[in-house]
Amino acid sequence: MREYPIGLVPGPVSVPKKYAQAWLTDFGSSDLEADFFDLYARNQALVQKLLGTKESVVITSGEAMSILWGSVKSALAPGDRLLAVASGLFGEGFADMARALGIKAETAAAEYDSLPDPQRVREAALSFRPHVITAVHCETPSGTLTPLKDLGEIALEVGALFLVDFVSSGGGAPVDADANHIDIGLLGSQKALSLPPSLSISTISARAWDSMKRVNYAGYDACLPWIDVPAKVCMPYTHDWHSMTALNLSLSAIMEEGMDNTFARHSRTAALCRELARGMGLRLFPVSEAICSPTVSAFHVPDGWTWEAFDAALRTRGLAVGGNYGPLAGKVFRVGHMGSQANEELLLRGMEVIKEALKK
Ligand SMILES: *Cc1c(COP(=O)(O)O)cnc(C)c1O
Repeated sequence: MREYPIGLVPGPVSVPKKYAQAWLTDFGSSDLEADFFDLYARNQALVQKLLGTKESVVITSGEAMSILWGSVKSALAPGDRLLAVASGLFGEGFADMARALGIKAETAAAEYDSLPDPQRVREAALSFRPHVITAVHCETPSGTLTPLKDLGEIALEVGALFLVDFVSSGGGAPVDADANHIDIGLLGSQKALSLPPSLSISTISARAWDSMKRVNYAGYDACLPWIDVPAKVCMPYTHDWHSMTALNLSLSAIMEEGMDNTFARHSRTAALCRELARGMGLRLFPVSEAICSPTVSAFHVPDGWTWEAFDAALRTRGLAVGGNYGPLAGKVFRVGHMGSQANEELLLRGMEVIKEALKK
């Protein structure tokens, strides 16, 4: 296994050593001990503050994909309708997941280098009448950030639940779940919270709980069994006390820094990344800087390079960045500057490596 001194992968991000102490502690049983239920409640309150919601917060084991699947299965029964707002791979993914589950799915699609068009989403929603509209706040493979307010209002207008994947923006940019009418919001531990990929976090509105009661999905990844945790002092399974302790350290660090300062640090690092990239002649993948996410920057693989050769040239110099998937594989690469990696000094070192590699 190789370690890279300059880690700028857009998740999983590097875990600060001060959080790692959580894994060196022997805890009691998370099923039985009052301390764990107290920790769960404290983390819920911190997540509510971070994500701008007064609705429920559920924290489960398993990284973010578990709650992407679990929330779709919990909110929709086979035969229900899901409209996926998609300007990237994760947006499209919700339609694929739904179809695999026997849920009817349509997409309101836009190009991967741009943002969804709310007018087209509204038209699609009015004709398809979905039970759930899904959207992705930060499309990590594309490096874009989708404004959520208009989409949330469309969901309200058509009586659909609004499900938002903010896995790679939550903690690095304001999510404002309630102001954006988000009924189900999804976050993972390994992006801007700078933890290993071990926890999923979801926000669930009263309307969403009602749907989940109607669907009544049962399974390891079901949301409903968590509705009265921690009040009922019983967990659906043995929870991950170590990760929950590390989550508390991470959330507390954000509160100590001040959420606005944390978000500003992400924006500054992102702006610096793009400015330095422009200076080296790298081409931004999104159509304009205005639609870029503060947590990740996507660029075209430079002319004259294959992704493999470029990636190897960076890695031999100690820098790891992100490649891509699907239609963007081999063409677009990403610099992740979220969580612990939203650090201007680290980013400067990384961009210096890219500059050196491009000279050869
Ligand atoms: C990282 C991420 C996920 C979770 O996927 P992983 O398997 O953890 O990579 C989901 N949605 C988005 C937008 C992400 O960036």
